Amino acid sequence: MTDLAIAGRATLQPITAIAAAAGIDDEALELYGKYKAKVDVFRTKESPATLGKIVLVTAMSPTPAGEGKSTTTVGLGDALALEGQKVVIALREPSLGPIFGIKGGAAGGGYAQVLPMEDINMHFTGDFHAITSAHNLLAALLDNHIHQGNTLNIDPRRIQFRRVLDMNDRALRNVVIGLGGPTEGVPRESGFDITVASEVMAIFCLATSIDDLRERLSKITVAYTYDRTPVTAGDLNAQGAMTLLLKDALKPNLVQTIQGTPAFVHGGPFANIAHGCNSILATNTAREYADIVVTEAGFGADLGAEKFLNIKARFAGFSPDAAVIVATIRALKMHGGVPKPDLGQSNDQAIRDGFSNLRRHIANIRKFGIEPIVAINRFTTDTDSELEIVQELVRGEGAEVAVAKMWAEGGEGGRDLARKVISAAQQPNNFHQLYELDLSVEEKIETIVKEIYGGSGVDFSAAAKKRLKEIADNGWDKMPVCMAKTQYSFSDDATKLGAPTDFTVSIRDLQVRTGAGFIVAITGAIMTMPGLPKEPAALRMDVAEDGKAIGLF
Ligand code: ADP
Repeated sequence: MTDLAIAGRATLQPITAIAAAAGIDDEALELYGKYKAKVDVFRTKESPATLGKIVLVTAMSPTPAGEGKSTTTVGLGDALALEGQKVVIALREPSLGPIFGIKGGAAGGGYAQVLPMEDINMHFTGDFHAITSAHNLLAALLDNHIHQGNTLNIDPRRIQFRRVLDMNDRALRNVVIGLGGPTEGVPRESGFDITVASEVMAIFCLATSIDDLRERLSKITVAYTYDRTPVTAGDLNAQGAMTLLLKDALKPNLVQTIQGTPAFVHGGPFANIAHGCNSILATNTAREYADIVVTEAGFGADLGAEKFLNIKARFAGFSPDAAVIVATIRALKMHGGVPKPDLGQSNDQAIRDGFSNLRRHIANIRKFGIEPIVAINRFTTDTDSELEIVQELVRGEGAEVAVAKMWAEGGEGGRDLARKVISAAQQPNNFHQLYELDLSVEEKIETIVKEIYGGSGVDFSAAAKKRLKEIADNGWDKMPVCMAKTQYSFSDDATKLGAPTDFTVSIRDLQVRTGAGFIVAITGAIMTMPGLPKEPAALRMDVAEDGKAIGLF
């Protein structure tokens, strides 16, 4: 049965009942229909004395289909609830780009899904619309300022801020705007990024209040003047209207799992080209109502988890209590050299070879002072002997391992994993960030490349070197670094699978995100506006006579 069919058969409880069971005050609930609500976190009760523990779900380097992090996050939440824990889940909102492109939705899968999945995967409560609008409002104000006389002396050739759209659309990567004569604006080169790479999305996910949101928005660097002075959104006085567009979106969205566990689904930066975590407000609110919060960071642990730990946890001032690395037999085989069409065939040697990838992720999480637990996300095609091999290999690394069957069985299939997570979260850990902020930008990038990716060094392009100087000259070098890198390899070359060594990572460009508070390092051939594949998933989609979605996946 497809995810969509399973979701269609589930019986949902009114979201008011889910909220009441979680202890969320009715007064703070803003209903979006029967099954979705925003929680007005700015009107809720005082924070409790103790906040819920944080369990981070991450993964080995994935195949293009995804290894089941969202599925595991949702299923683990359900399993923890069955084990008697008071749980709230915190997830990202899906982007339309991958939904219509290759991957399908991002609301979990099988019997471990958040509902209503059709809504969550499409327009949901309109947050992405609000973020896209706020971003593009700033772009419009910027171009209008230049058209109306340019009193700030902005150099149109040095504008950093592009426009965004929540779609995979490679034709918009580079555009020329303002064509048509003096009444149509000032012609200049620009381009579009996908909304999930927008600085406004990052700010939305890092902001802790309306005031913090406004303050961060005003600090976005949009351009430089002819004499190279940075121009911010604050200089254009854009922050007020942008905050207005975002004020409701900033309230976390409450939904439920198939099993009825409460889940916040809020904010959705990608983990390859952005920082990859749901909003701090959602995670913090979840902690107020739960003993244990299960949250996810995107793609492999080299991307999402590294950024969760080095950026989000640093800004939020919290430390995770446990980390789960999701692994699949198919990804292990892929990293062991098996071509995609043959991943369904048994191949024990490839699993052993591909384990090099998982081994490095285990070692990496330990570098942050956390002892990871490996969850093998079981597919029906996996054999017992294959699962046994992986468990033995993980135990050989001295790590805990559990076979996770939540996709097929819901929370019941995750009891073993849940018990191991509870026990790990009770142990004190030695969490620390991998680098201090006072290192130079080069040193921070080098630390990530050497310690997390396993590379030997970093090459900076001429353009990136210029940027490094600009960053240092403006005093922006004390911010953390957000790497933009392919999710398929530890290196910046998507074809280098397993655990490559002796490679250097090329930094093509550096982008300054003074509002979000980090520097984006663009590596290899990574794009901030993805393209659609030859056969986009969109071509299989339609609406049935009863109004239900077809082919969502
Ligand atoms: P990720 O969060 O790692 O990208 P998802 O949880 O979104 O991955 O899962 C990706 C897709 O794989 C979903 O369509 C989901 O239904 C499917 N999937 C996940 N786990 C399993 C499993 N154990 N068996 C079959 N399909 C699965």
